[in-house]
Amino acid sequence: MDRYDIAIVGTGPAGLSAAITAKIRNKNIVLFGEKELSGKVAKAPSIHNYLGLPEVTGADLSMAYSSHLDAMDIPVTERKVTAVYAMGDYFSIQAGGNMYEADCVIVASGLAPAKTYPGESEFLGRGVSYCATCDAPLYKGKNVVIVGFSKKEESEAAFMAELAGQVFYIPMYKEKTELPECVDVIRENPVRIEGELKAERLVTDQGEYGADGFFFLREGAFPAQLIPGIKMDGNNIEVSRKMETSIPGCFACGDITGPPYQYIKAAGEGNVAALSAVVYLEQKKKGMNET
Ligand SMILES: Cc1cc2nc3c(=O)[nH]c(=O)nc-3n(C[C@H](O)[C@H](O)[C@H](O)COP(=O)(O)OP(=O)(O)OC[C@H]3O[C@@H](n4cnc5c(N)ncnc54)[C@H](O)[C@@H]3O)c2cc1C
Repeated sequence: MDRYDIAIVGTGPAGLSAAITAKIRNKNIVLFGEKELSGKVAKAPSIHNYLGLPEVTGADLSMAYSSHLDAMDIPVTERKVTAVYAMGDYFSIQAGGNMYEADCVIVASGLAPAKTYPGESEFLGRGVSYCATCDAPLYKGKNVVIVGFSKKEESEAAFMAELAGQVFYIPMYKEKTELPECVDVIRENPVRIEGELKAERLVTDQGEYGADGFFFLREGAFPAQLIPGIKMDGNNIEVSRKMETSIPGCFACGDITGPPYQYIKAAGEGNVAALSAVVYLEQKKKGMNET
């Protein structure tokens, strides 16, 4: 398995700025995220506080980001990271069913979701999952419930429908769904997950749905589940001014470190995180040469 210098999780302004800085510093990087980069950039109707671009639209800024990545030959690895494990002197990263290794990690996955549903954390890994692409093979011919927090999750539900028995899809957004006919779309609000040894049913405000698997597909990730053992400050990852987290070699930047929630702050922190990662790599190399 190839070992990257730096793995970057997230393609918003924080992750992209980190990727560009790391590439300029000649590091071997892998950037996980989406081809569309960040919905929070693309969907902004007009932006007035972006330095040097007083009336830029989110769509234009997003295109400029894409061109910048192309110009610097930085590909986006379109995979959702489900876990980052600190292995001592390197990190093992689980993404879309594949494993990657890197000497350090920069987490830029955006604002952490506010809360989990009762039972969700308790049954995580026991019938509850956050990645349909990764876990779909476990549910071949079985029944699943998918709670999708944005329209883009419909592609995950359509993929699941190819393998699973029955798919119930609960959209947590107002737009019209575009899904295969075999998917049952339910416009209800989830309340809690119930079960004994494993998750067995999702209770909603109007009924309940028994199934073998329950997927909660959100845009952001819960940091404590993404990076087991990381120190939190409320709902955010605790960082130093160098964007260091409590885990040596793991840095965090952007909305995931807390307010203010602004493009420029996210991009600035991404720059600092990458430069700190470069220093960390240099010190690590020096330490290895001395021993
Ligand atoms: C409608 C709207 C308008 C806004 N307007 C402004 C404005 O005018 N000015 C301003 O300064 N700010 C504005 N903001 C705030 C701004 O969008 C955020 O502060 C900024 O996008 C944060 O950047 P980020 O890189 O930290 O996170 P994000 O932009 O949220 O990017 C996070 C990225 O990480 C990816 N990701 C998440 N989890 C994973 C995972 N497990 N694996 C792989 N990838 C993952 C996501 O898909 C996404 O690509 C606006 C926000 C919204 C919603």
